[in-house]
Amino acid sequence: METLPIQPSFDGGGHLDPWMRRALDLAAGVRGLVWPNPPVGCVIHRDGVVLAEAATHPGGRPHAERQAIDRAGRTARGATMHVTLEPCCHWGRTPPCADAIIEAGIARVVCAIRDPDPRVDGGGFARLLGAGVKLEVGQGATEARRIMSGFFRRVRHGVPELLVLAALAVEVPAGVDALLRIVGDGVQVVARDGRPTPKLHRGKGLLRDLGGLGLTSVAIWQGDLQAAGLQDADDGMVMSPDTFGSGLLDRKFGINA
Ligand SMILES: [Zn+2]
Repeated sequence: METLPIQPSFDGGGHLDPWMRRALDLAAGVRGLVWPNPPVGCVIHRDGVVLAEAATHPGGRPHAERQAIDRAGRTARGATMHVTLEPCCHWGRTPPCADAIIEAGIARVVCAIRDPDPRVDGGGFARLLGAGVKLEVGQGATEARRIMSGFFRRVRHGVPELLVLAALAVEVPAGVDALLRIVGDGVQVVARDGRPTPKLHRGKGLLRDLGGLGLTSVAIWQGDLQAAGLQDADDGMVMSPDTFGSGLLDRKFGINA
């Protein structure tokens, strides 16, 4: 039996080729738009030429790999795919990406990080290896972990990251799924992409309820923390206002998922 390369072969601080660089940038660009799914970037290339690229579609599907494969069409045969997360191996509304990669004839996959979602968790790698696809895991892992930190937190702990804002925000901050507002006796969730969300109860169970909605990162004004009952929210990754800026949020987190 083949040993799965589930441990990073090298870290993101090491070699990062331009294909993975591009895939990470694509992934970072859709952070805040794709919950409950992870922000993933994917580049298919051969002989130094990009054949197709994609990020997770807003709303969470189709997945990045599926879109890139569809765009590359028959040119994908024999090509290399760089992707920021382990390709899925479970049936959702569409067939698994690992199957699509195999069917497309992609010869080599370079992947940043394993997907901790229990429905995947090494299963995507196993399927690729079983079909004879060459696989490398670990390039860009540190940055991929930062970009997907909210997704990883929700998968592992059932709660989203909580970003505490110094100033009252009118709009949902870039890179965050939703903004929390106190409305009457409850908490209104305003999603960045305008998706309708229910009003939730204040208090201890709020973070769990947000995780249950599929949200991976939420922002709240520090003045609303106590009213929301989140002042002692230890199980969310609480980020202070000085970690927040106008640039790419993931680059400022400096945290581990
Ligand atoms: Zn997939």
